[in-house]
Amino acid sequence: PDPTPLMPALTGSFSSPAGGNPTGAMVEAAYRHHGVLARFVNCDVPPEHLPDAVRGAIAMGWIGFNLSLPNKQAVIPLLDGLAPSAALIGAVNCVQITPGALIGNNTDGQGFVQALRERRDPQGLRVVLFGAGGAARAIAVELALAGVARLTIVNRTVERAEEIAAIVRENSAAEAIAVAWDGSFPIPADTDVVVNGTSIGLAPDTDARVDLVAESILPTMLVCDVIPNPPDTMLLREARAQGAATLDGRAMLANQAAINLNLWMGLDPDRDVMRTALDAAIGDWRH
Ligand code: NDP
Repeated sequence: PDPTPLMPALTGSFSSPAGGNPTGAMVEAAYRHHGVLARFVNCDVPPEHLPDAVRGAIAMGWIGFNLSLPNKQAVIPLLDGLAPSAALIGAVNCVQITPGALIGNNTDGQGFVQALRERRDPQGLRVVLFGAGGAARAIAVELALAGVARLTIVNRTVERAEEIAAIVRENSAAEAIAVAWDGSFPIPADTDVVVNGTSIGLAPDTDARVDLVAESILPTMLVCDVIPNPPDTMLLREARAQGAATLDGRAMLANQAAINLNLWMGLDPDRDVMRTALDAAIGDWRH
Protein backbone atom coordinates (compact mmCIF):
# COMPACT_ATOMS: atom_id res chain seq x y z
CA PRO A 1 0.00 0.00 0.00
CA ASP A 2 1.03 3.57 -0.71
CA PRO A 3 2.32 4.97 2.62
CA THR A 4 1.23 8.49 1.61
CA PRO A 5 -2.08 8.09 -0.18
CA LEU A 6 -3.18 11.22 -1.97
CA MET A 7 -6.28 12.88 -0.59
CA PRO A 8 -8.95 13.90 -3.10
CA ALA A 9 -10.30 17.45 -3.04
CA LEU A 10 -13.92 17.20 -1.91
CA THR A 11 -16.85 18.98 -3.55
CA GLY A 12 -20.55 18.24 -3.79
CA SER A 13 -24.10 19.45 -3.68
CA PHE A 14 -26.66 19.99 -0.91
CA SER A 15 -30.27 19.83 -2.09
CA SER A 16 -33.48 17.93 -1.44
CA PRO A 17 -34.65 15.94 -3.28
CA ALA A 18 -31.18 15.35 -4.68
CA GLY A 19 -31.90 12.32 -6.84
CA GLY A 20 -31.54 12.94 -10.55
CA ASN A 21 -29.23 15.94 -10.16
CA PRO A 22 -26.93 15.60 -13.19
CA THR A 23 -24.23 17.99 -11.95
CA GLY A 24 -22.16 15.25 -10.31
CA ALA A 25 -21.96 13.32 -13.57
CA MET A 26 -20.68 16.39 -15.43
CA VAL A 27 -18.24 17.45 -12.74
CA GLU A 28 -16.73 14.01 -12.15
CA ALA A 29 -16.36 13.54 -15.92
CA ALA A 30 -14.33 16.76 -15.96
CA TYR A 31 -12.23 15.62 -12.98
CA ARG A 32 -11.44 12.33 -14.74
CA HIS A 33 -10.74 14.00 -18.08
CA HIS A 34 -8.31 16.51 -16.57
CA GLY A 35 -6.72 14.01 -14.16
CA VAL A 36 -7.81 16.08 -11.16
CA LEU A 37 -7.83 14.12 -7.91
CA ALA A 38 -11.23 15.26 -6.64
CA ARG A 39 -14.69 13.92 -5.89
CA PHE A 40 -18.21 15.38 -6.12
CA VAL A 41 -20.75 13.99 -3.64
CA ASN A 42 -24.45 14.56 -4.31
CA CYS A 43 -26.06 14.87 -0.83
CA ASP A 44 -29.77 14.97 0.07
CA VAL A 45 -29.85 17.78 2.65
CA PRO A 46 -33.18 19.32 3.70
CA PRO A 47 -32.98 22.95 4.92
CA GLU A 48 -33.17 21.99 8.62
CA HIS A 49 -29.91 20.07 8.23
CA LEU A 50 -28.16 22.64 6.06
CA PRO A 51 -26.20 24.36 8.89
CA ASP A 52 -24.83 20.98 10.02
CA ALA A 53 -24.02 19.98 6.45
CA VAL A 54 -22.09 23.22 5.91
CA ARG A 55 -20.21 22.78 9.21
CA GLY A 56 -19.51 19.19 8.18
CA ALA A 57 -18.10 20.28 4.82
CA ILE A 58 -15.78 22.73 6.58
CA ALA A 59 -14.77 20.06 9.13
CA MET A 60 -13.96 17.59 6.35
CA GLY A 61 -11.91 20.09 4.41
CA TRP A 62 -14.23 20.38 1.38
CA ILE A 63 -13.16 23.10 -1.06
CA GLY A 64 -16.68 24.05 -2.12
CA PHE A 65 -20.24 22.94 -2.73
CA ASN A 66 -23.34 23.62 -4.78
CA LEU A 67 -26.80 24.41 -3.50
CA SER A 68 -29.98 23.57 -5.31
CA LEU A 69 -33.66 23.67 -4.31
CA PRO A 70 -34.62 24.36 -1.52
CA ASN A 71 -31.29 25.64 -0.12
CA LYS A 72 -30.23 28.49 -2.41
CA GLN A 73 -31.53 31.22 -0.10
CA ALA A 74 -31.31 29.32 3.20
CA VAL A 75 -27.52 29.11 2.85
CA ILE A 76 -26.97 32.89 2.78
CA PRO A 77 -27.01 33.50 6.59
CA LEU A 78 -24.35 30.77 6.91
CA LEU A 79 -21.88 32.58 4.62
CA ASP A 80 -19.24 35.24 5.24
CA GLY A 81 -19.62 37.07 1.95
CA LEU A 82 -21.41 37.19 -1.37
CA ALA A 83 -20.19 37.90 -4.89
CA PRO A 84 -21.87 41.11 -6.15
CA SER A 85 -24.30 39.42 -8.55
CA ALA A 86 -25.26 36.80 -5.94
CA ALA A 87 -26.14 39.67 -3.58
CA LEU A 88 -28.41 41.20 -6.25
CA ILE A 89 -29.98 37.85 -7.11
CA GLY A 90 -30.47 36.97 -3.43
CA ALA A 91 -29.64 33.31 -4.01
CA VAL A 92 -26.47 31.21 -4.02
CA ASN A 93 -25.79 28.04 -6.00
CA CYS A 94 -22.03 27.77 -5.48
CA VAL A 95 -19.99 28.28 -2.32
CA GLN A 96 -16.20 28.54 -2.19
CA ILE A 97 -14.65 27.38 1.10
CA THR A 98 -11.50 29.41 1.52
CA PRO A 99 -9.28 29.29 4.63
CA GLY A 100 -10.87 32.34 6.20
CA ALA A 101 -14.32 32.58 4.67
CA LEU A 102 -17.30 31.00 2.93
CA ILE A 103 -18.11 32.98 -0.23
CA GLY A 104 -21.43 32.61 -2.07
CA ASN A 105 -21.79 32.93 -5.82
CA ASN A 106 -24.63 32.56 -8.26
CA THR A 107 -23.47 30.99 -11.51
CA ASP A 108 -26.86 30.02 -13.02
CA GLY A 109 -27.38 33.31 -14.83
CA GLN A 110 -23.69 33.47 -15.79
CA GLY A 111 -24.06 30.02 -17.36
CA PHE A 112 -27.01 31.27 -19.37
CA VAL A 113 -25.26 34.44 -20.53
CA GLN A 114 -22.18 32.45 -21.60
CA ALA A 115 -24.42 30.19 -23.68
CA LEU A 116 -26.19 33.22 -25.16
CA ARG A 117 -22.88 34.90 -26.06
CA GLU A 118 -22.08 32.02 -28.40
CA ARG A 119 -25.14 33.02 -30.41
CA ARG A 120 -25.72 36.76 -29.79
CA ASP A 121 -23.85 39.67 -28.21
CA PRO A 122 -26.07 40.59 -25.24
CA GLN A 123 -25.19 44.30 -25.57
CA GLY A 124 -28.29 46.24 -26.63
CA LEU A 125 -30.63 43.24 -26.94
CA ARG A 126 -34.37 43.45 -26.28
CA VAL A 127 -35.35 40.40 -24.24
CA VAL A 128 -38.66 38.88 -23.18
CA LEU A 129 -38.18 36.67 -20.10
CA PHE A 130 -40.98 34.40 -18.86
CA GLY A 131 -40.79 33.63 -15.14
CA ALA A 132 -39.64 35.35 -11.98
CA GLY A 133 -38.40 32.46 -9.84
CA GLY A 134 -34.80 31.73 -8.93
CA ALA A 135 -33.59 30.85 -12.42
CA ALA A 136 -35.31 33.82 -14.06
CA ARG A 137 -34.01 36.19 -11.41
CA ALA A 138 -30.42 35.04 -11.94
CA ILE A 139 -30.81 35.36 -15.72
CA ALA A 140 -32.39 38.83 -15.44
CA VAL A 141 -29.58 40.18 -13.25
CA GLU A 142 -26.80 38.76 -15.44
CA LEU A 143 -28.47 39.95 -18.67
CA ALA A 144 -28.76 43.43 -17.16
CA LEU A 145 -25.09 43.38 -16.10
CA ALA A 146 -24.18 42.15 -19.62
CA GLY A 147 -25.75 45.27 -21.14
CA VAL A 148 -29.13 44.30 -22.60
CA ALA A 149 -31.23 47.32 -23.56
CA ARG A 150 -34.66 46.10 -22.54
CA LEU A 151 -35.94 43.32 -20.32
CA THR A 152 -39.65 42.49 -20.30
CA ILE A 153 -40.36 40.11 -17.41
CA VAL A 154 -43.61 38.22 -17.82
CA ASN A 155 -44.86 36.29 -14.78
CA ARG A 156 -48.09 34.82 -13.48
CA THR A 157 -47.40 36.38 -10.06
CA VAL A 158 -46.66 39.90 -11.30
CA GLU A 159 -45.28 41.14 -7.95
CA ARG A 160 -42.28 38.83 -8.37
CA ALA A 161 -41.66 40.25 -11.85
CA GLU A 162 -41.93 43.80 -10.48
CA GLU A 163 -39.38 43.00 -7.78
CA ILE A 164 -36.87 41.84 -10.41
CA ALA A 165 -37.60 44.79 -12.68
CA ALA A 166 -36.85 47.16 -9.80
CA ILE A 167 -33.50 45.43 -9.12
CA VAL A 168 -32.58 45.65 -12.81
CA ARG A 169 -33.49 49.36 -12.99
CA GLU A 170 -31.54 50.18 -9.84
CA ASN A 171 -28.40 48.34 -10.91
CA SER A 172 -28.14 48.79 -14.67
CA ALA A 173 -29.07 51.07 -17.52
CA ALA A 174 -31.53 48.50 -18.91
CA GLU A 175 -35.18 49.36 -19.32
CA ALA A 176 -37.13 46.82 -17.23
CA ILE A 177 -40.84 46.16 -17.61
CA ALA A 178 -42.93 43.76 -15.49
CA VAL A 179 -46.01 42.25 -17.13
CA ALA A 180 -48.75 40.10 -15.58
CA TRP A 181 -49.03 36.83 -17.51
CA ASP A 182 -52.76 36.32 -17.92
CA GLY A 183 -53.60 34.75 -21.23
CA SER A 184 -51.57 34.14 -24.34
CA PHE A 185 -48.68 36.64 -24.42
CA PRO A 186 -47.85 38.26 -27.78
CA ILE A 187 -44.08 38.75 -28.21
CA PRO A 188 -43.37 42.35 -29.35
CA ALA A 189 -42.07 42.27 -32.94
CA ASP A 190 -38.86 44.16 -32.06
CA THR A 191 -37.79 41.46 -29.55
CA ASP A 192 -34.37 39.86 -30.16
CA VAL A 193 -34.39 37.09 -27.57
CA VAL A 194 -37.18 35.16 -25.82
CA VAL A 195 -36.36 33.11 -22.71
CA ASN A 196 -38.50 30.58 -20.86
CA GLY A 197 -37.23 30.92 -17.28
CA THR A 198 -40.21 29.07 -15.76
CA SER A 199 -40.44 25.38 -14.87
CA ILE A 200 -43.03 24.84 -17.62
CA GLY A 201 -41.99 21.89 -19.80
CA LEU A 202 -39.85 20.09 -17.22
CA ALA A 203 -40.29 16.30 -17.22
CA PRO A 204 -42.69 14.68 -16.53
CA ASP A 205 -45.01 17.56 -17.59
CA THR A 206 -43.61 17.72 -21.09
CA ASP A 207 -46.96 18.66 -22.65
CA ALA A 208 -47.21 21.86 -20.58
CA ARG A 209 -47.01 24.89 -22.85
CA VAL A 210 -45.50 28.35 -22.37
CA ASP A 211 -48.61 30.37 -23.15
CA LEU A 212 -47.58 32.80 -25.86
CA VAL A 213 -48.95 33.70 -29.28
CA ALA A 214 -46.96 31.28 -31.46
CA GLU A 215 -47.35 33.47 -34.56
CA SER A 216 -45.69 36.38 -32.72
CA ILE A 217 -42.37 34.43 -32.75
CA LEU A 218 -40.45 35.78 -35.76
CA PRO A 219 -37.49 34.25 -37.64
CA THR A 220 -35.33 37.16 -36.39
CA MET A 221 -35.68 35.96 -32.78
CA LEU A 222 -33.58 33.56 -30.72
CA VAL A 223 -35.82 31.49 -28.43
CA CYS A 224 -34.15 30.00 -25.34
CA ASP A 225 -35.34 27.58 -22.68
CA VAL A 226 -33.87 26.88 -19.23
CA ILE A 227 -35.43 23.41 -19.14
CA PRO A 228 -32.64 20.83 -19.50
CA ASN A 229 -34.88 17.75 -19.34
CA PRO A 230 -36.18 17.14 -21.91
CA PRO A 231 -33.97 19.60 -23.81
CA ASP A 232 -36.28 19.86 -26.80
CA THR A 233 -39.32 21.50 -25.20
CA MET A 234 -42.62 22.31 -26.82
CA LEU A 235 -41.60 26.00 -26.80
CA LEU A 236 -38.45 25.28 -28.80
CA ARG A 237 -40.38 23.13 -31.28
CA GLU A 238 -42.95 25.90 -31.74
CA ALA A 239 -40.16 28.43 -32.22
CA ARG A 240 -38.48 26.32 -34.90
CA ALA A 241 -41.83 25.94 -36.68
CA GLN A 242 -41.93 29.77 -36.83
CA GLY A 243 -38.43 29.84 -38.34
CA ALA A 244 -36.70 31.10 -35.18
CA ALA A 245 -33.31 29.92 -33.89
CA THR A 246 -33.32 28.10 -30.53
CA LEU A 247 -31.06 27.48 -27.53
CA ASP A 248 -31.93 24.71 -25.09
CA GLY A 249 -31.21 24.48 -21.35
CA ARG A 250 -28.22 22.12 -21.50
CA ALA A 251 -25.56 24.71 -22.28
CA MET A 252 -26.62 26.84 -19.30
CA LEU A 253 -26.41 23.82 -17.00
CA ALA A 254 -23.02 22.67 -18.28
CA ASN A 255 -21.67 26.24 -18.21
CA GLN A 256 -22.67 26.89 -14.59
CA ALA A 257 -20.94 23.66 -13.56
CA ALA A 258 -17.83 24.69 -15.50
CA ILE A 259 -17.80 28.12 -13.82
CA ASN A 260 -18.10 26.38 -10.43
CA LEU A 261 -14.96 24.32 -11.13
CA ASN A 262 -13.18 27.52 -12.03
CA LEU A 263 -14.21 29.09 -8.71
CA TRP A 264 -13.28 26.02 -6.65
CA MET A 265 -9.96 25.04 -8.23
CA GLY A 266 -9.12 27.44 -11.06
CA LEU A 267 -9.89 24.70 -13.60
CA ASP A 268 -11.16 25.71 -17.06
CA PRO A 269 -12.78 22.37 -17.87
CA ASP A 270 -13.41 20.97 -21.33
CA ARG A 271 -17.08 21.82 -21.87
CA ASP A 272 -17.59 19.15 -24.53
CA VAL A 273 -16.65 16.50 -21.97
CA MET A 274 -19.18 17.97 -19.55
CA ARG A 275 -21.88 18.21 -22.24
CA THR A 276 -21.41 14.56 -23.21
CA ALA A 277 -21.69 13.50 -19.56
CA LEU A 278 -24.78 15.71 -19.17
CA ASP A 279 -26.48 14.11 -22.17
CA ALA A 280 -25.86 10.65 -20.73
CA ALA A 281 -27.17 11.75 -17.32
CA ILE A 282 -30.30 13.30 -18.87
CA GLY A 283 -30.93 10.01 -20.67
CA ASP A 284 -30.81 8.15 -17.33
CA TRP A 285 -32.80 10.81 -15.49
CA ARG A 286 -35.74 10.71 -17.91
CA HIS A 287 -36.44 7.00 -17.49
P1 NDP B 1 -39.02 28.55 -9.08
O1 NDP B 1 -39.98 27.63 -8.40
O2 NDP B 1 -38.21 29.51 -8.28
O3 NDP B 1 -39.84 29.44 -10.17
C1 NDP B 1 -40.76 28.84 -11.03
C2 NDP B 1 -41.25 29.88 -12.03
O4 NDP B 1 -42.11 29.24 -12.98
C3 NDP B 1 -42.06 31.01 -11.44
O5 NDP B 1 -41.88 32.19 -12.18
C4 NDP B 1 -43.50 30.50 -11.60
O6 NDP B 1 -44.47 31.52 -11.63
C5 NDP B 1 -43.38 29.87 -12.96
N1 NDP B 1 -44.39 28.84 -13.20
C6 NDP B 1 -44.40 27.56 -12.75
N2 NDP B 1 -45.48 26.91 -13.19
C7 NDP B 1 -46.19 27.80 -13.93
C8 NDP B 1 -47.41 27.74 -14.66
N3 NDP B 1 -48.12 26.60 -14.72
N4 NDP B 1 -47.83 28.84 -15.32
C9 NDP B 1 -47.12 29.98 -15.28
N5 NDP B 1 -45.96 30.12 -14.61
C10 NDP B 1 -45.50 29.04 -13.94
O7 NDP B 1 -38.09 27.62 -9.94
P2 NDP B 1 -36.62 27.96 -10.52
O8 NDP B 1 -36.63 29.34 -11.05
O9 NDP B 1 -35.60 27.59 -9.53
O10 NDP B 1 -36.50 26.92 -11.71
C11 NDP B 1 -37.26 27.06 -12.88
C12 NDP B 1 -36.79 26.04 -13.89
O11 NDP B 1 -35.47 26.37 -14.29
C13 NDP B 1 -36.72 24.60 -13.36
O12 NDP B 1 -37.51 23.79 -14.17
C14 NDP B 1 -35.28 24.20 -13.48
O13 NDP B 1 -35.17 22.89 -14.03
C15 NDP B 1 -34.73 25.19 -14.47
N6 NDP B 1 -33.33 25.52 -14.19
C16 NDP B 1 -32.43 25.28 -15.18
C17 NDP B 1 -31.11 25.57 -14.97
C18 NDP B 1 -30.14 25.28 -16.06
O14 NDP B 1 -28.95 25.43 -15.81
N7 NDP B 1 -30.57 24.91 -17.26
C19 NDP B 1 -30.61 26.15 -13.70
C20 NDP B 1 -31.66 26.41 -12.75
C21 NDP B 1 -32.97 26.08 -12.99
P3 NDP B 1 -45.06 32.15 -10.25
O15 NDP B 1 -44.01 33.10 -9.76
O16 NDP B 1 -46.30 32.84 -10.68
O17 NDP B 1 -45.31 30.99 -9.33
